[in-house]
Amino acid sequence: FLFPDGNPDPTGSKDEMVAWAREMYRELSPETGVFFDFLAQYELFDLETRPGKRMGGYCTGFQAWQAPFIFANFNGTSADVDVLTHEAGHAFAYYTASREQQLAEYCHSTNEINEIHSMSMEHFTYPWMDKFFGDKADKYRYAHLCQALNVLPYMMCVDEFQHLIYDKPDMSARRRRQVWRDLERTYMPWRDYDGVPFLEEGGFWMQKQHIFLYPFYYIDYALAQMGAFEFYGRMKQDRTAAWSDYLTLCKAGGSKGYLDLLKLARLSNPFAEGGVANAVSHVVEEVSASPYR
Ligand SMILES: [Zn+2]
Repeated sequence: FLFPDGNPDPTGSKDEMVAWAREMYRELSPETGVFFDFLAQYELFDLETRPGKRMGGYCTGFQAWQAPFIFANFNGTSADVDVLTHEAGHAFAYYTASREQQLAEYCHSTNEINEIHSMSMEHFTYPWMDKFFGDKADKYRYAHLCQALNVLPYMMCVDEFQHLIYDKPDMSARRRRQVWRDLERTYMPWRDYDGVPFLEEGGFWMQKQHIFLYPFYYIDYALAQMGAFEFYGRMKQDRTAAWSDYLTLCKAGGSKGYLDLLKLARLSNPFAEGGVANAVSHVVEEVSASPYR
């Protein structure tokens, strides 16, 4: 927990939260209003958990109907709200691109762009979090920003680890654990395993399924967070302009490559000198000035 008295949980039932999300998206922009009405009209979500249901959450799309679909397992925590912002961000991007693009393959992009769609929506919806969290909305926004920042060094640690171990497939299990522990000390020197031998020895990496299943995918989230943070910074200056660039990005789907899409949305290249600092510095400032710090 980030807060000693517990992290903020949303106050409503599933139906209430869907109704609040509908109001939120109608107020956010005309485009999101039409989109969420469409989602609600055709019941394009399966949100509640039930026995035997597959775990997790995701968004997919049905090309023939130009319709996104959101799957989730609500559990009464702030993760439920993240579904209504993050997965709805993916859904909005698909809904928008599938009405602009002629080719099915162009209706979505690669992950370092797709996650800009979803993560930016988490920031665009900040002003409506009072609906979901009442007087704990500021706590939610603070926790959300901290978490988005905190996870960045972990993502980079996973990425470098992938490079090192894939490069030497016959590395011993013990050596892999040493490599992980060394990288942890570089990227996250504050980690304290309190003497638990398995973790002190470098065993933590094994719980990250991406290392086994999805080579080099994890860093895409960090790259996308750069774009989302940059949009968030621009929202603070000029929300209308930020929304307009975001909409342009969503409409373009995967019709261009990564760098061209960034340019189209007026986002910096995170690989360019100063790109990361530019995206992150205003977030560090905001978090540092928070009364919850
Ligand atoms: Zn996502």
